[in-house]
Amino acid sequence: MTSTFRPLSNGQLLDLPATLPVLDPATEEVITHVPDCTRELLDATVRSARAAFDTWSLTSIEHRRERLEALGARMKEHADELTLLLTREQGRPLAMARAEVLGCVHWLRSAAKMSLPIAERTDPAGLSWSTRRVPLGVVAAIAPWNFPLTLAVWKLAPALLAGNTVILKPSPFTPLATLRMGELAADLFPAGVLNVLCGGDALGPWMTAHPGIAKVAFTGSTATGRRVMASAAPTLKHITLELGGNDAAIVMPDVDVPKVARKLFMGAFLNSGQVCIASKRIYVHDAIYDAFAQTFAAAAKATPMGPGTKEGVMLGPVQNRPQYERVKELIAATRDAGHRFLAGGEVPDGPGYFIPPAVVDNPPDDARVVVEEPFGPIVPLLRFSDVDEVVRRANDSEFGLGGSVWSSDVAQARAIGARLEVGTVWINSVHLLDPQSPFAGRKQSGIGVENGIEGLLEFTTTQTMVG
Ligand code: NAD
Repeated sequence: MTSTFRPLSNGQLLDLPATLPVLDPATEEVITHVPDCTRELLDATVRSARAAFDTWSLTSIEHRRERLEALGARMKEHADELTLLLTREQGRPLAMARAEVLGCVHWLRSAAKMSLPIAERTDPAGLSWSTRRVPLGVVAAIAPWNFPLTLAVWKLAPALLAGNTVILKPSPFTPLATLRMGELAADLFPAGVLNVLCGGDALGPWMTAHPGIAKVAFTGSTATGRRVMASAAPTLKHITLELGGNDAAIVMPDVDVPKVARKLFMGAFLNSGQVCIASKRIYVHDAIYDAFAQTFAAAAKATPMGPGTKEGVMLGPVQNRPQYERVKELIAATRDAGHRFLAGGEVPDGPGYFIPPAVVDNPPDDARVVVEEPFGPIVPLLRFSDVDEVVRRANDSEFGLGGSVWSSDVAQARAIGARLEVGTVWINSVHLLDPQSPFAGRKQSGIGVENGIEGLLEFTTTQTMVG
């Protein structure tokens, strides 16, 4: 049987044997099978991407902008189909899947507006010096399963705009919407410029070690990020690593408690907690802790959970079996350690990887649920009484992705936020991202930047011409 989802290599959509099953996490039924791309196919794809680079890198940026806009328009035309695929394979409710597809359209359009800087000067001797940004070559773009299309577009848009060619690899858990995006893009770019390969666990390491690849743009866990960096070292590839997070939210005593509790509930549990910038440690001032915890736990008990295709559902399943087992184990360990649950804490039998949102009542700072990134629907609420103390506790983490501060005194909130050792701080909000603003992780949350002009420059190096 050949797969109806076709990898894109050298401008060709390939009919290959369908071997890898893709499961619906809401039912555990097989949706379809996709190809397991071989080492030989990767080698051939790298060769064609390298050949395409020679001409694509010489096209005008205006031309490349126009092609990215065409991809955005094509995705918009097919938004219904991409939305349904995302919900089926990833699990989240249809409205949130649609937001991801339309977010990609917006991102492509906005990224296409950026320009590459050029610096020119004439020295006192009359000699001309100019420095322009040049593309790197073939880029490997590797995406995780929590936001498959978003995290693919964050890479391919700036990479292609800068004049690189791209080989995109989705997670084996969520390849369908990405392969379909590749099919939609096939006639929009010259052969070899944009390629989409899917495969099992071997494909990523082959890409990160491949001598024909100049740059790896990776989003995934910190553990895998370490392996990617080691694998890219022998050929000294450029790398961007967007990795795990354990974001703190700090809630000051002057907030509108019910309003902020409900907002932070979605900040923690959107996409069933499988968001790198989810609020994963919620520090609440002692004076309002009890009232906050009551509203937060009530929201956890009342929020409808079910298959993403069902009307009215707000929380879908965990995306895959290994992640489901990891989160279940963390819940059991939290209970075994004697920590109290304000909501959740029991996991019903399947089918489907459903875990009701679990809220843990003020565990100690060294509890696993505080120290680790759960990447699932469990969050601790933690009491604090002093600003210096809470800043120290929030910063006491190997991660440094994002964080938020909640207060009706915005100046105070900003002053606290500035002390957080993270790449993005939200004041009285969470999860807001913009294609024009850089997104980066500090500490072990990553290396390099995505988005904004800084993100675009990560897909280039400099060439200085003298004379
Ligand atoms: P993962 O690290 O397991 O996999 C990510 C991707 O890397 C997948 O495509 C996978 O097939 C591939 N891969 C796995 N091993 C590889 C290897 N040795 N070499 C090359 N590629 C390899 O991550 P995941 O479980 O898919 O995603 C969840 C993690 O991603 C969480 O930790 C989350 O915080 C993080 N994340 C970070 C951001 C961010 O922007 N910082 C965004 C989303 C998710």
